[in-house]
Amino acid sequence: MSSSGRTDIAPDRPLPEAPGDLLDRARAAFLGVAVGDALGATTEFMTPKEIRVKLGVHDQVTGGGWLRLKPGQVTDDTEMSLCIARAVSDTGGWNLRAVADAFAGWLRGKPTDVGATCRHGIRNYMLKGRLEAPPNDGDAGNGAVMRMAPVALLTLGDGEALDRLAVEQAHLTHNHPLSDAACRCVGRMVHRGVSGSAKDDLYEEARGLATLHPAFRFDPYHGEASAYVVHTLQTVFHHFFVSSNFEECLVRIVNQGGDADTTGAIAGMIAGAFYGTSAIPGKWLRKLDEAVRSETEAHAVRLARMSPLLANVWPRRNAEMPEDYEGRKGR
Ligand code: MN
Ligand code: MN
Repeated sequence: MSSSGRTDIAPDRPLPEAPGDLLDRARAAFLGVAVGDALGATTEFMTPKEIRVKLGVHDQVTGGGWLRLKPGQVTDDTEMSLCIARAVSDTGGWNLRAVADAFAGWLRGKPTDVGATCRHGIRNYMLKGRLEAPPNDGDAGNGAVMRMAPVALLTLGDGEALDRLAVEQAHLTHNHPLSDAACRCVGRMVHRGVSGSAKDDLYEEARGLATLHPAFRFDPYHGEASAYVVHTLQTVFHHFFVSSNFEECLVRIVNQGGDADTTGAIAGMIAGAFYGTSAIPGKWLRKLDEAVRSETEAHAVRLARMSPLLANVWPRRNAEMPEDYEGRKGR
C-alpha cells in the first residue's frame, strides 16, 4: 500500500456468462446486509428464550430493540458498509484514507450505535491519522467482518485483491488475526455466492477457516452468538448451512439473539449473494428504510461493475482514481 492509502485493482478477466445474474446476486449481498441488520436489531442482546417469551418467533421487520429503532431502520453494520461504498464511489476506486475519512464523518454525525473497537479505531485515525489500529490481543470482535460486503463486491474476480483490501479495511479498527481470517473468509464466500458456486463450495470456505483456526469449528454448534468474531461466524455458518433459503436462514439467525443485527447482516450478505434478490422476502424489503434500500442497491451494482470480474462487461465509468486525492482530514 502506498502512503496515500491507495491500492490499485487489476482488471482483465474473461467475460462471465451471465453478468445480469451476477449483478442480481451482488445487489442481494448488500441488500442482505441491510435486511439482516434491520431484522436482527430487534433481538440484539436477547437470549433465544427471551425472544420466544416476548416475541414468539421473530420474523418481521418491526424495529424496536434496545436501540428503539423505527421499523426498517438499520444500524452501524449497514452504515459502516455504506461509508466504504461511498468512499469507493467518491474516489473512483480503492482509497483507504477515503474510507477512514468516511468512518470519521460518520462518527462525528453521532450514529445510533457504534462498537467500542470501531470508535477507538476511528478516533485513532482522527487524532493521529493512522490507517492501522495497533494489534489488540484482547479484542477479536466482529466489527470488521460486518462491513465486508462492499470490499467483496469491488474485488469480485480477484481473490488476492480481496485478501489485501479485506485486511486493510479491517485494520482501520480491528487488528486481530481471527478478525482478519474471518474477513477474508466471508469475502470469499460472497465471491463464490455471487459467481454462482454451489453451496458445497461455500462450505469448503467455511471449513477452510476452521482448519486454519480450529476455534471457528461450527459443527456441533454450541449456540453462542456474541460479538466475538468466532461466535458470530459459528452462528452464521451453522444457520446458513442447515437452512435451505434466505428467509429460513435469517429467521433462524435473528432468533438466536446475541449480536443478532450483526449475525443477521453477515448472514444476509452471504445468503443474499448465494440466493439472489428474488429470495429476499418482499415483506422485509418493503419495510426497509427506503433511502438505505436504494443506496445499498445502487452501490452494489456500481461496485460489482467496477470489479475485475465485471469491469470488461460494461464501459468502465468513474473507475479512475484522482491523482490529487489527499484525503479529507479535519473535515
Ligand atoms: Mn449494529
Ligand atoms: Mn451488532
